[in-house]
Amino acid sequence: MSAQLILQPGKERSLFRRHPWIFAGSVERLVGKARPGDTVEVVAGKQVLVKAAWSPESQIRARVWSFDPNEIIDNAFFKRRVAAAVARRGVLPSLTLEQGQRLIHAESDGLPGLIADKYGDTVVVQLTSAGADKWREAIADALQLATGCARIYERSDSDVRGLEGLEPRVGWLRGEAPAGEIVIEEHGVKMAVDIVAGHKTGFYLDQRDNRGLLRELSAGRRVLNCFCYTGGFSLQALAGGATSVVSIDSSQPALDRAAANLALNPRLPADRAEWRCENVFDELRKLKAAGETFDLIVLDPPKFAPSASHAERASRAYKDINLLGCKLLAPGGLLMTYSCSGGIGLELFQKIVAGAALDAGRDARIMQRLQGAPDHPIALAFPEGEYLKGLLLQVD
Ligand code: SAH
Repeated sequence: MSAQLILQPGKERSLFRRHPWIFAGSVERLVGKARPGDTVEVVAGKQVLVKAAWSPESQIRARVWSFDPNEIIDNAFFKRRVAAAVARRGVLPSLTLEQGQRLIHAESDGLPGLIADKYGDTVVVQLTSAGADKWREAIADALQLATGCARIYERSDSDVRGLEGLEPRVGWLRGEAPAGEIVIEEHGVKMAVDIVAGHKTGFYLDQRDNRGLLRELSAGRRVLNCFCYTGGFSLQALAGGATSVVSIDSSQPALDRAAANLALNPRLPADRAEWRCENVFDELRKLKAAGETFDLIVLDPPKFAPSASHAERASRAYKDINLLGCKLLAPGGLLMTYSCSGGIGLELFQKIVAGAALDAGRDARIMQRLQGAPDHPIALAFPEGEYLKGLLLQVD
């Protein structure tokens, strides 16, 4: 008999909207015994509504596995859900050709706390909830079955595990390390992916399509790529015919990787690339003081606001870099600007950027709204899944 989570009166409403989180404040009590990650029945008015994973340490006290109260949560359940998520990527034919691809995007693929990214024939998983952590082996088996990949690496070292009372855990779940480094091709450009020490699962797959767009915009332009990490946008700009590409990041190891990635692509004009190990906030001011201008600027900063409580300080940081970005653009230039902060919605982000353009004394218009690539779907019932938002602006 699984334990039962009894909801406070009225707290079942979000479940009827098929939102998968049950917060601590919604729980009246737990009947029976459950260890972290165990499946519990969620009950309102004596009726079992959903099956969920119990996370006693987290403010999100339970995450829904199934909105069908009769569905059994077992190995077969994970096989079904993982197979469905992988098949979903086939909806967009171009996706199936990508060597770097997100296979499972957590809640939005019906698998809370589970991220799975595929790089060539290696899958990297990140388990961030007690429920996903408990089903590690079933998930690894299901991924092998659905993808045919022999190698599965676990990168469960994200900070959010701490909120669930989980220790970091990394290592090979299936197979062993490949002989050389893992290299994927993105829009024809080779990129090495460091699945052991790189950010997230090794690479920012969410920006793949936006890097493709940048490539299309780069011909004949002087490009400035801020927060360049391992050079994803920079190399696409070179491939697209940029006349120069200045890239800034504060991490020397990231820049070393970027330079190594460039070397993997001998056809790209390396003499047009310049890497600067600097703080973007300072470097943009210096560039401005030196009277430099650019035709196309990318601003893809780290998460300044992990949650809404950081929104105010983060807003100032976004305003600052976008203001400097606008000032550094030659008339008619393009600004590709992003926020990956869950705590800053699209509307607020647009307001911040509008304020920045205004203060820079520049008229600007949105040419395109940008978002994460479609292998990072957003379940309609789970708007929290939308974290990456961007604007392509043309600035007079
Ligand atoms: N655009 C990249 C991903 C950017 S990740 C891609 O497409 O792959 C954010 C990067 O910002 C990280 O590499 C981090 O080292 C860098 N960073 C964070 N704060 C910074 C700062 N103040 N100045 C410069 N770089 C910074």
